[in-house]
Amino acid sequence: MKPKAWSNEATRKLTQGQSVYVKDAVEAWIPAVVVEEADSRLTVTVQLADDSIVMRKSSEVLARSEETELFICSSLTELNPVNEASALDCLHQRFSQDIFYTAAGTTIVAVNPFKDVHHLYNQHKIQDYHRPLQTLDPHIFMIGEKAYAHMLREMGNINQSIVVSGESGAGKTVSAKHLLKYLTIVSSPENEIKYVQLHLECSIPASVIERRVLDSNPILESFGNAATPRNENSSRFGKFIQLQFHRNGYILGGVIQTYLLEKTRVVHQGPGENNFHIFYQLMSLGDIDQVPSWLVAVRAEVQHSGLDCTVPQQAETLSVLQTVEAMSDIGVSTSQQVSIFKILLAILHLSTMKFISIKDGEACTFSDTEDTDQFVYVSSRTKEECCRLLGISALSLHHALLNRKIVTGTKAHQSVYVKPVTVAEAQSRRDSLAMLLYSRIFDWLVNFINTQIKADTFDHCINLLDIYGFETFEINNLEQLCINYANERLQQHYVTHFLRDLQTEYELEQITWTPIEYKDNKTCVETLHGPSGVFGILNEEVTLNRASDDSILCGRIITGCGAKGVVRKHGAGTFETKFIVRHYAGDVVYSVEKAVKKNKDNIPPELIALVATSEDSFLQDLFTNDEFSYTEQSLTPTKTKKKITVLTKFKSSLDRLMQSLERSDVHFIRCIKPNTNNRPGVFDRTYVLQQLEACGTLETVNICRLGYPARMDYKDFIQRYGFLARLSNAYVVKKFTTEASINNNCVGTEAEQDEFFQKVESQMSHFDLPFLNSGHK
Ligand code: ATP
Ligand code: MG
Repeated sequence: MKPKAWSNEATRKLTQGQSVYVKDAVEAWIPAVVVEEADSRLTVTVQLADDSIVMRKSSEVLARSEETELFICSSLTELNPVNEASALDCLHQRFSQDIFYTAAGTTIVAVNPFKDVHHLYNQHKIQDYHRPLQTLDPHIFMIGEKAYAHMLREMGNINQSIVVSGESGAGKTVSAKHLLKYLTIVSSPENEIKYVQLHLECSIPASVIERRVLDSNPILESFGNAATPRNENSSRFGKFIQLQFHRNGYILGGVIQTYLLEKTRVVHQGPGENNFHIFYQLMSLGDIDQVPSWLVAVRAEVQHSGLDCTVPQQAETLSVLQTVEAMSDIGVSTSQQVSIFKILLAILHLSTMKFISIKDGEACTFSDTEDTDQFVYVSSRTKEECCRLLGISALSLHHALLNRKIVTGTKAHQSVYVKPVTVAEAQSRRDSLAMLLYSRIFDWLVNFINTQIKADTFDHCINLLDIYGFETFEINNLEQLCINYANERLQQHYVTHFLRDLQTEYELEQITWTPIEYKDNKTCVETLHGPSGVFGILNEEVTLNRASDDSILCGRIITGCGAKGVVRKHGAGTFETKFIVRHYAGDVVYSVEKAVKKNKDNIPPELIALVATSEDSFLQDLFTNDEFSYTEQSLTPTKTKKKITVLTKFKSSLDRLMQSLERSDVHFIRCIKPNTNNRPGVFDRTYVLQQLEACGTLETVNICRLGYPARMDYKDFIQRYGFLARLSNAYVVKKFTTEASINNNCVGTEAEQDEFFQKVESQMSHFDLPFLNSGHK
């Protein structure tokens, strides 16, 4: 029998003495018992656990099971009744029992434990989940195994993707790390738990590839993660790793693609924010006694830099020596590492440079005043140190930061003028240089890792996506707009391909079905990236190259995009520079201040020319084949060349990502953050419910529950339950042969089918077959 539709739960008749949940401002839903059935105004009288009697609208009352031990339901679809309150209670009870994974249809809900649970990911667990047809508790390894098994079965026809999503701090990166480890271990030919050993013709031994793939994590984490108020190890870039496999299932390599590193963090960190971890790792080197001999010189540079070496209070992240070890393992030479560290130190020096205006504010120069705030600051020394570390002359740095070249005339009759810049422009050039250097190091590392792990040829792949989570701060800028837009795109993929397709499939299979309404975020996505949407308006400012007033720009966004209710005004004032976007996960206030500048991401060509003259060959290499490579010609204003904005580039990379997902079999892991303080053992029910609602988990459960929660491919089904056919072999043979000869098909009369299934069922009841308990046959 099919369970009742969830949507009916709220409206079904509540009878006296019935166990229910009632809405609560703090706990989201609390248990109660009906004292009086709904009256004509649809108000129900209930008794709470503290014996108090309250009245509630029947829409705020949901049915509750007498069964108190909900944690034994390993899938939310097994709950009865199934509603948002029982789903929340189940997750809560499981969390209290230290069970952090729960199935929700085909998705896994992973609640962040915020404590050490290494035993959940050890070699035994890997072995447990890497067995055919196992019946184990939900786990992220289950998704890893499913993707791996599907990949092998599909023989490369359909790639597999695992999308790990959730808010910032929900545990995506940690989950992705465990999955990466799982997939590399189960697919390693050296792995003892493999059943068959086959020889692979591969130039690099599998163990090396496996180690290199895993080593990419600490490197990218050190250079791409930072502490934010929401997560002390927050990924400030998106990561898509394609693991490449031989047709036998052995790992051959991988390719990493990254999305939009938040490079502004190098020059500006908001309250409660830190710079990228690597800077603090580098500064901590000054206090380490034992370092490899080649690092001694770098340590001396740190010690004599005059820079503040205090490492801010932050969660335990990797040590500099661990990062160095990972870089060495993957093949970054010691001289390359020394160059990287020198550039990082130079960036820190750069960020302390200050300017003062001269000539009535028309020009500026380096400030020599002491800044006692944080650093004992001597400008000329900083400048010299910075130049020495970058292998450039002080004079050229001076020219590049304090002057702007203006080219006029045509190609044939060109005039180049040098114009001094104001303090604000000099600061902006200094920041551009710091961001440019940092982003080039990051890109270089990603490329280098790829050269070391990429397979020449491969048969199958599994993609693993760990993209920055949805985030909202007091003030949100272009960076958050990009991050939240990426999450909207992923959510859209989920809604379209999972929720909609599942319903379509039921309709095709003619399953009696009441369509379920789900939150579609299409309007939000289109309001953001459509041609006349928010991105379009911000891009237009860049194309027109005009200095727009922030409040006028904000007004254009609100009037141009406000029609569909996604974008709206923030304050009541006329000169407002903030607007609100209604995202699937909640409202976010964005500021347009600096948005156009960030979107333009203009790198003055003089800066590229400056670093290209470096004596450091590593630094030079970072700028070879540069699309901006400096020539006098490149300074010529070209009217035809359309400036590609940050938003345009980001949207295109997400378009490509979505295409990859569309072409693959996608598995979802929904990470949930149990509380906003990142504390173990605390389950903030209202906050968790918000996340479940926002990411569509509740709709998933409902759809799976109303349909068929246990889904098995025919092959798996036969492998697993085929022995039952042998038990009733005589019957099957008889039935099939007689019917085939009579009807030329294998379907008997209804009575015969019933008899057959009753027989099979009675035999099945002797075995522990979980799907029999699901309520579906
Ligand atoms: P962001 O979007 O900001 O990058 P995220 O979703 O990637 O966030 P993580 O960095 O994976 O979040 O997790 C945040 C913190 O939560 C980790 O540093 C760790 O302390 C804790 N954590 C996450 N998952 C687990 C886990 N499985 N076991 C123990 N602790 C965990
Ligand atoms: Mg992360």
